[in-house]
Amino acid sequence: MTEVYLDNSATTRPSQAVIAAVQKCLTEEWFNPSALYRPAMMAQKQIDRVRSEVASAAGAQNQQVIFTSCGTEADNLAIFGCLRNRRKPGKVLLLQTEHPAVLSCAQEIERLGHTVQLIPVDSVGRLKLDQLEAMLDETVHLICVMQVNNETGTIQPLEEVAALRNRLAPNAAIHVDGVQGFLRVPLSFNRLGIQSYAISGHKIHAMKGIGALIVQKGHRLAPILLGGGQENGLRSGTENVPGILSLGEAVRSYPSDGAARMAKWKKALWEQLNAALPGIRLNGPAIEDGAPHILNISFQPVRSQTMLFALEGDGIYVSAGSACASKKQKISPVLSAMGLDTQRADCAIRFSLSPDLTDEQRDYVVDRLVYHVTALKPFTRR
Ligand code: PLP
Repeated sequence: MTEVYLDNSATTRPSQAVIAAVQKCLTEEWFNPSALYRPAMMAQKQIDRVRSEVASAAGAQNQQVIFTSCGTEADNLAIFGCLRNRRKPGKVLLLQTEHPAVLSCAQEIERLGHTVQLIPVDSVGRLKLDQLEAMLDETVHLICVMQVNNETGTIQPLEEVAALRNRLAPNAAIHVDGVQGFLRVPLSFNRLGIQSYAISGHKIHAMKGIGALIVQKGHRLAPILLGGGQENGLRSGTENVPGILSLGEAVRSYPSDGAARMAKWKKALWEQLNAALPGIRLNGPAIEDGAPHILNISFQPVRSQTMLFALEGDGIYVSAGSACASKKQKISPVLSAMGLDTQRADCAIRFSLSPDLTDEQRDYVVDRLVYHVTALKPFTRR
């Protein structure tokens, strides 16, 4: 049976180059990089090479890169590492549609004595700049704004956020969750002047268990994991060398036209579907304005769970909302924050792409979607 994997925002298939790099590492380069003999020092050298490759890919030349176990840990380190260095209680602003890796920190942030405020979004999921402006003052410690939303592909206006911070909240650090943006949407860390940026390996065809936090030099962070003092004292624990090398390989081998290829595929998918099923609704920004790899569509009145299983029967893997949320909640909090009514949110399917998808695969997906919507519509009672 044909298989079409369209859940790349949940995780990606490790590339052949990544698998080869990991295998080589596990068989030949498995030494502890902290040791003092030659093969161990070679491992350390390779780690440092990946550090600068990751930094370059984010436009963060000459900044610090701290390897973590995943994107979630990188987000947590950025938030609590920053707040531990702030003695006075202050405000922490979180975008309302952040991933749980950030939003779930709210309670603990408040327990530490700070006040959390959520920055609202508009109907396409874009941060409301006027409302952010009203929240800013010199008591703000930290502003967290993701680069790309994992459910809708909405790209946040980071330049405007940084400009507002510079003007109105000089004491605030900006943390950007770049887990869905890194390599797929351009970013210049240095030009933006942000303080930290989180990435995750398994979203870009590296292995699971590796993430990184890029930190502006001079931005003070306290570690959240204490121990042997690896990663410049900011993330203790023996380095995950295979993971780090897999991340380096993934960055190196990510196709330079990957984003353009996905954008083209995404646009064609939307146009083909829209022509065949005129009632469908796009959730999120206009096709050209969103990230190249994420498309969220409501196929009313067919509920997402029903559609998801119907497509699975055809070998097509998609998601209803984000993978992390889909087992827990029925309606996506992201779509709710954008003001979608329950029915529309309950019928939302997220397609998330990789650069290697073919036109034949797209035609197959369109064919199956049209078939299922047409077949299921008469049986859908609301
Ligand atoms: N941030 C965003 C936007 C994500 O999409 C995800 C994962 O889906 C994460 C953070 C967490 O990344 P990880 O799975 O590496 O912990």
